[in-house]
Amino acid sequence: MSEQNCLFCKIVAGEMPAEKVFEDARAVAFRDVNPQAPTHVLVIPRAHLESLDDAAQTDESLLGHLLRVAARVANSEGLSESGYRTVVNTGADAGQSVLHIHVHLLGGRPLAWPPG
Ligand code: 5GP
Ligand code: ZN
Repeated sequence: MSEQNCLFCKIVAGEMPAEKVFEDARAVAFRDVNPQAPTHVLVIPRAHLESLDDAAQTDESLLGHLLRVAARVANSEGLSESGYRTVVNTGADAGQSVLHIHVHLLGGRPLAWPPG
């Protein structure tokens, strides 16, 4: 999928509505439209990157930043004590449906393991 047709690039650009909970120079966090837990937030880079599989060494700092933003949002959602899960689905078998890398932040209920 090209950046022009990318749903999450459109959210970054403000061309698609989303309930944003955090943003900075490198990342945007917004609530998932189909939440799987009381808190379900997606943390994405402003720059288009298709998946973890496409990440280069130069993306390492950005990838770390996405996780730190997830932790910050988890804290602001009151999840630091109860706990939360961060997930990056990559490719077909993991069910990645949007080809712009995103960290799922899930919390607010006990989360089963292993995942389905
Ligand atoms: P994936 O399956 O690729 O790991 O996760 C994609 C996520 O994006 C899904 O949880 C899905 O509910 C969410 N999603 C898809 N389209 C939209 C949208 O237009 N807005 C928001 N906020 N979330 C979306
Ligand atoms: Zn994109």
